Amino acid sequence: MNQFNINNIIRPNVKAMKAYSSARDEFQEINDDFVFLDANENPFNNGLNRYPDPLQRNVKTILSEIKNFPTNQILLGNGSDEVLDLIFRAFCEPNQDNVIAISPSYGMYSVLANLNAIEYRKSLLNEKDFQPNIDDIFEKVDDNTKMIFLCSPNNPTGEIIKRDSILEIVNRFNGLVIIDEAYIDFANETSWMQEIQNYPNVIVTQTLSKAVGLAGIRLGILYASQEIVDVLNKIKPPYNINQLTQLKAIEILSNYNKVIDATKLIIQQKNVLEKALTEISFVKKIYPSDANFILIKVDNADERYNQLVEKGIIIRNRTKDDLCENCLRITVGTEEENGKLIEILKLLSVYVGKF
Ligand SMILES: *Cc1c(COP(=O)(O)O)cnc(C)c1O
Repeated sequence: MNQFNINNIIRPNVKAMKAYSSARDEFQEINDDFVFLDANENPFNNGLNRYPDPLQRNVKTILSEIKNFPTNQILLGNGSDEVLDLIFRAFCEPNQDNVIAISPSYGMYSVLANLNAIEYRKSLLNEKDFQPNIDDIFEKVDDNTKMIFLCSPNNPTGEIIKRDSILEIVNRFNGLVIIDEAYIDFANETSWMQEIQNYPNVIVTQTLSKAVGLAGIRLGILYASQEIVDVLNKIKPPYNINQLTQLKAIEILSNYNKVIDATKLIIQQKNVLEKALTEISFVKKIYPSDANFILIKVDNADERYNQLVEKGIIIRNRTKDDLCENCLRITVGTEEENGKLIEILKLLSVYVGKF
């Protein structure tokens, strides 16, 4: 077992500070019989005149049931981006600490590290299977390394990180391991959230932006030990999840079977798309995907990307990412959208070699 101790990694100013105490913190029960004259709200009821619940208990209750996870170990953010930013601010001392992340991976980790003046150390994935190079990661760890970011399934490569690799990292590292599971609902593997009770240095993040289909409401989720969630609750903006977002999340999550059905459809469409891509002559490689997107290597990513834009189809050019030369990332769309993409790719492939 490792030497992880939450008290060793909380920033001293965070440990010392007192949280802002909002009106709704001090008095939480919303009961129609009460007269609320405590928060300087407008008294005229339009459905949104009251501040939202700062702890979003109704949303967390539903999530807790769906995910079989205690409500007091859940933290919600204005997208995963806010959740990740809060982690930096709670645990990483500016101009002193560093974090390590696999590369290529999600771009926000380095943006947030830069914003918080935290050194960002990249550890390249193995080229052949896009799995982490554990020896390399631990060569980069020093006394000021507070967090390791593992995105699984990884964006943009699409593959889940093998359980044994994550386990070894979690066991060997004395800081926090952040497992970003934005795409876990599309994968065959189970989430790491149920391991949190055994590994208190694990933080799992998920989001309603992908499989749940609610990118527009901005709701990111963090699952961790109660100690970690308590620290983050202390420093988060009090009303970070607005009332409209909470209501919509409750509405959609209350009908979770529909979400599961839609996820199955997307996975099915991914398989169709994968198969169709094998027949496009300039597609050199199709990387296996546990997510709702497919990474492909083509003959010339810039050229193919531009050709698709001209035809009104927008995908993501990842050619500048580490290990992703001439790679494009395609999000799985509806059957019709995927059909359109394939039709155009076929058209374009007819001209291969003629220029
Ligand atoms: C899309 C995505 C997210 C989601 O971010 P939100 O701010 O919750 O929309 C998180 N992590 C990764 C790796 C992603 O690709």
